[in-house]
Amino acid sequence: MDKALHLLIDGRLVAGAGEMPVINPATGKAFALAPRADAAQLDTAVAAARRAFPGWAALSYADRRAFLERFADGVEARFEEFARLMTMEQGKPLDQARFEVGGTIAGLRYFAAQEIVSHVIRDTAQERITEHHSPLGVVAAITPWNFPLILLVVKLAPALITGNVVIAKPAPTTPLTTLLLGEVAADILPGGVFQTLADANDLGALLSTHAGVAHVSFTGSTATGKKVLSSTVDTLKRFTLELGGNDAALVLDDADVNKVAPAIFGAAMVNAGQVCLAAKRVYAPRALYDDLCAALGALARAAVVGEGLDQGSQIGPVQNAAQFAKLVDYLAEARQQGQIVAGGAPLDREGYFIAPTIVRDLPDDARLVREEQFGPVLPVLAYDDLGAAIEAINASEYGLGGTIWTGNPERGEQVAALIDSGTVWVNRHLDLPFDVAFGGAKQSGIGRQQGVEGLLEFTQAKIINMAKG
Ligand code: NAD
Repeated sequence: MDKALHLLIDGRLVAGAGEMPVINPATGKAFALAPRADAAQLDTAVAAARRAFPGWAALSYADRRAFLERFADGVEARFEEFARLMTMEQGKPLDQARFEVGGTIAGLRYFAAQEIVSHVIRDTAQERITEHHSPLGVVAAITPWNFPLILLVVKLAPALITGNVVIAKPAPTTPLTTLLLGEVAADILPGGVFQTLADANDLGALLSTHAGVAHVSFTGSTATGKKVLSSTVDTLKRFTLELGGNDAALVLDDADVNKVAPAIFGAAMVNAGQVCLAAKRVYAPRALYDDLCAALGALARAAVVGEGLDQGSQIGPVQNAAQFAKLVDYLAEARQQGQIVAGGAPLDREGYFIAPTIVRDLPDDARLVREEQFGPVLPVLAYDDLGAAIEAINASEYGLGGTIWTGNPERGEQVAALIDSGTVWVNRHLDLPFDVAFGGAKQSGIGRQQGVEGLLEFTQAKIINMAKG
């Protein structure tokens, strides 16, 4: 069993206070041991981060940029190692893992080139008033298990370039790629600027309540996000919460079913449906309903489900046993309340594999429609009235994303304006350029990542107001 990876604390690669097994979801068996940090190591990391902060913050943007570029080079040099490790721990097909590693490198380079420039509000004979943005200090970057690297990098790179220092805490079931990122950083970044702490789901709360942490950048479920929010109160920490979603794919009556079915299928099944912004429920006009269900069903039956390292696998296992059990529950209810068009059960093999599933004729209040399933199981609902469909979509407590599928993009844009969520795509999905801010409405989050807003989240505005003469 592989046990070569270490925590990165205060510039040194160290063993954890303990160890924990990491399961390959394609087999359900442990394939590696990860170091497990304890509360004392967390304290050491926060203290080291606080020592490192003034020096890092004092560097120019150009100096920090050079560090981040070398960091990106270091990841690039181990590209395939990152991709294979991600597939092993997360389960996703290797080409999707490579895409994520490529995005990680691109993200480091994109944010390395950004700068928050001070701004003159007024400069007259009598006075000069300027606005500056100072870094906050120690950022805790807490991430989930669906995209272990890219979700970290959209925190890490903006936080570092703006002069903050970062402690990364990955999800307990996918610690290895974050630890590998730490190993790359160990030779490149000054000690304490970036650190990694792997845990068994017991350090997140300690980190987000720690008085030495200035900002908690959290991506994960809404339930945990609420705990994080309350943990920031004592010291009035800044925070960014990227939480759950129940995004709808809304098909308009002018859509071409043959064209939109593969796009919707992809939007629902990429990463085995474990995407915060995945299409998690489909609303189709009654006239297109049978055809769309049939087309989605055919795609589900044709999809190649298999181990991520096997060439040709399109859909891998779900990431962990708890998620697998949750999906098995949803499937049992769906079989009772609706009609299974394709799939409907786990695969009869080792590992956490669920057959890609399309379910029709579920009532609006079925759990699979109302809740975030986070797996390759897609409910398709019929509507008779577009206004009522939009109302049903907006009735969700979530408001992360959504897609409109139509033959008329301008009409799609108008409908998109009526959907109450942070991002709505028309005739495309998951297009997330680094210069475009994204984040949730309602209980899908508070704050933004990426874009200028995402950089500003890691800074504190400061006014300098000078009388002249
Ligand atoms: P989770 O909330 O269980 O865990 C996320 C992280 O929080 C993990 O690292 C976990 O160890 C840590 N954690 C647990 N308890 C904590 C506490 N009390 N305080 C601080 N941290 C704590 O989420 P998950 O199951 O790993 O991820 C799936 C969820 O993430 C889904 O709801 C999905 O929609 C959401 N997600 C959101 C986005 C987004 O950008 N909005 C992106 C990806 C995933």
